[in-house]
Amino acid sequence: MTSPEGSYSPMSIRATGLPTMLYALLLGLTAGTGGVCPALAQPAAVTDSLPVATDARLGGDDQQTRFVLDLSQKIAVRAFALADPYRVVLDIPQVSFKLPAKLGETGRGLVKAFRYGLVMQGGSRIVLDVGKPVRIDKAFVIDAADGQPARLVLDLAATDRESFLRTIALDRKPPRAESPRPDPTAPKQAGDPRPLIVIDPGHGGIDNGTQAASGELEKAIVLEFGTMLRDKLEKSGKYRVVMTRTDDTFVALGDRVRFARERQAALLISIHCDALRKVEGDAQGASIYTLADTASDSEAGRLADAENKADVIAGFDLSGEPNEVADILVDLAQRETKTYSLQFAKTLVGEIKGVARLHKHPLKAAGFKVLKAPDVPSVLVELGYVSNAQDLKLLNSDAWRSRTADAIAQAVGVFFSTRLAGTGGDVGLRR
Ligand SMILES: [Zn+2]
Repeated sequence: MTSPEGSYSPMSIRATGLPTMLYALLLGLTAGTGGVCPALAQPAAVTDSLPVATDARLGGDDQQTRFVLDLSQKIAVRAFALADPYRVVLDIPQVSFKLPAKLGETGRGLVKAFRYGLVMQGGSRIVLDVGKPVRIDKAFVIDAADGQPARLVLDLAATDRESFLRTIALDRKPPRAESPRPDPTAPKQAGDPRPLIVIDPGHGGIDNGTQAASGELEKAIVLEFGTMLRDKLEKSGKYRVVMTRTDDTFVALGDRVRFARERQAALLISIHCDALRKVEGDAQGASIYTLADTASDSEAGRLADAENKADVIAGFDLSGEPNEVADILVDLAQRETKTYSLQFAKTLVGEIKGVARLHKHPLKAAGFKVLKAPDVPSVLVELGYVSNAQDLKLLNSDAWRSRTADAIAQAVGVFFSTRLAGTGGDVGLRR
């Protein structure tokens, strides 16, 4: 490759075998150099503000591809690859991304697309989708010089699947970037008998969710709606309410489920928006989803697949995920939880019907990972389609949001008053 970035003698970090400690150092933004990583020593003037990524580009072909990120200052980088689907992940300290809009949506050479964003406090990430097995030849950052900004450079080369798998097996497993325990300010309030409701705004950080043609991101729409819903529920004084995220941070799907289970939540409401591509036609209105092994229809299946991709999008390795345990108690609890979830979903449809547009088949089911807590009744609300002009207008309307959040709060009230009145037999795993 002959791009100008190639003419420097880089500080190179090998993609394999980086010690965990260094990884922690990278993400912790510590100024210590430890003799390993001089890039972390920064002049005092810039330590107050985050490094800024100003531009990025791809060069090369389907045998060798180079990714370059322009930066306001030198930073550290750790690169590793993931399989199924093939991805290359660049972990860097937290960076302020000021890249041109839509950058990363189209690829070149071995890179099909890339995305970037916060993946944990203090840590940003760039995830490159590669269509086939690749080898990370180099990943390094060079200082600003000759009027050029500091640059992060990643060199990829095509390889075969066998070599690819061998390399990632040899590579020490990257420490799983645990998303931070969301909302640490929500301690268990012992002695407070009010039911705990978890509001789960979908996506966040590096995972934008769906996107309207006008550029609005699902992650922002659902955070705003979720916050409004939380405030309304809290105001009633009848519930304790916590959110899985309160800012633009990524939270893995499993962590959302764990969050609700650890707090012994009585209800989880996951908030999302849907979108159809132009070729898929047009659809509108809100839908309520519950968990099912088999999708109720192809649209529900498509949506669950899309929503379940969050961890893949954020560059998580799913190969080590435990298989679900077969346990009779879990099974019993799950069955009861499903009944409650469905009961709440139906109530929701009834309450929303009067105030907001519903999809023509508003009640659906599919295998959403975020709904899999065996002991927390959970529903996923798709507020509407950002691909539909009218829906998008409503999603952006304060009046609509307020009406819809009121309807959901109303459904929550109905759900708990029926539930506390003693319908259904509790199998005793909880409460
Ligand atoms: Zn979503």
